[in-house]
Amino acid sequence: MSSPILVIGGGHAGAQAVDTLRREGYNDRIVLMGDESYVPYQRPPLSKQFLSAEWDVARLSLRHQSYYDEHKVELRLNSRAVRINAAGRVVTLSNGEELHYSRLLLCLGASSRQLACPGAKLSGIHYLRNIADARGIKDRLRHGARVVVIGGGYIGLETAATARKAGCTVTVLEMADRIMNRVVASDVSAYFEREHRLHGVDLVCNAHVLRVEGGDRAERVICAAGGIYEADIIIVGIGATANMQLAMDAGLECENGIVVDEYCRTSDPAIYAAGDCTYHPSIRFETRVRLESVDNAFEQAKTAALNILGKPTVHDRVPWFWSDQFDNKLLIVGLSQGHDRQVVRGDPGTRSFSVCYLKRGELIAVEAVNHSKDFVAARRLIIERARPILTRLHDPGTPLKAIT
Ligand SMILES: Cc1cc2nc3c(=O)[nH]c(=O)nc-3n(C[C@H](O)[C@H](O)[C@H](O)COP(=O)(O)OP(=O)(O)OC[C@H]3O[C@@H](n4cnc5c(N)ncnc54)[C@H](O)[C@@H]3O)c2cc1C
Repeated sequence: MSSPILVIGGGHAGAQAVDTLRREGYNDRIVLMGDESYVPYQRPPLSKQFLSAEWDVARLSLRHQSYYDEHKVELRLNSRAVRINAAGRVVTLSNGEELHYSRLLLCLGASSRQLACPGAKLSGIHYLRNIADARGIKDRLRHGARVVVIGGGYIGLETAATARKAGCTVTVLEMADRIMNRVVASDVSAYFEREHRLHGVDLVCNAHVLRVEGGDRAERVICAAGGIYEADIIIVGIGATANMQLAMDAGLECENGIVVDEYCRTSDPAIYAAGDCTYHPSIRFETRVRLESVDNAFEQAKTAALNILGKPTVHDRVPWFWSDQFDNKLLIVGLSQGHDRQVVRGDPGTRSFSVCYLKRGELIAVEAVNHSKDFVAARRLIIERARPILTRLHDPGTPLKAIT
């Protein structure tokens, strides 16, 4: 039997890669292996529709088992890769089994960053990365339960909104002086702070968690300056780190993620990588990035699959991301780092506005709050390196697509 193309990681990127391989006419063996027990599924609903019980597990699936059967993709669930022998092109699984490969694609994703204060290992402290995590949280979001969320980033805030909608008493503890501090403009933070407070979330910024206390299980969070927050459940959302140990141990170049080039190639010619685990070039922004976004996982996986098949393809995308909190949709496109001008279009009081970022006169990023038209227009304008006329950009009455 020939050695297959082996894809490790059954998430968004892994599922997309095998689909592209088959669509492009590759009809030899493909093995898709992952350490979870579910067919590859969508992760974003875990903090939204799945946590609120609107969706069940079946609805999360990206494709049903029948897809893998029909397309002769050998799907191996509950299988964890523990070692790559790059010279011998062999992967060892946790049960000792060895799998040979012709080409290897690493779609390993990321893991929740762990709390590191005293009491961090008490039971009753939850993270949210996979279905098992979400199930552990969902069962505890009962009406009246006291939920303390550590971290005011996307996952913490989405979870806080879902918990509040379930009737829980919710406190969010954010270390910085505003929520989503690293990723959005202060106007956007201020808008979402108001929204959360209006819905009854107790939002505490500048909160430095000192320790978690409890007996058998976590009962309260203690902050500097005397803040004590009693909890029935604690949910931690303080970021994620790339799953790259497997690649590091195999001698692949890694730095903030598995280093790949614009073809999604690692430092080993037979090994590619895609998705959250990669540290990759952004051609449009002339920098290297590690992104946690569904679009990036899908697009890099497609690029990697095409290159594996010998069809040279460059990953050259403007990144985008969304977040849903209560009835608000935040859409972000581009990278705002290095901007020299920021323009707010519209009045946050109308619940629909955008923040535009420029660098040397070019539009480089837009954060659109309940404004999908600005988002759609911005995607094209950023690719085209559009140079907005400032008076038009400032005028929310001028459609974004007409600002040049
Ligand atoms: C709660 C939550 C909400 C999110 N919301 C949004 C959103 O609104 N919008 C958005 O754009 N993005 C969102 N994201 C981010 C998005 O889900 C990720 O960017 C996306 O899942 C990345 O896909 P991936 O395939 O790279 O990694 P993953 O989907 O994480 O898949 C990686 C898989 O590899 C497995 N694996 C790792 N190591 C091994 C190994 N050694 N052997 C076998 N298997 C292994 C992992 O268990 C996992 O199943 C959210 C993420 C979370 C957790």
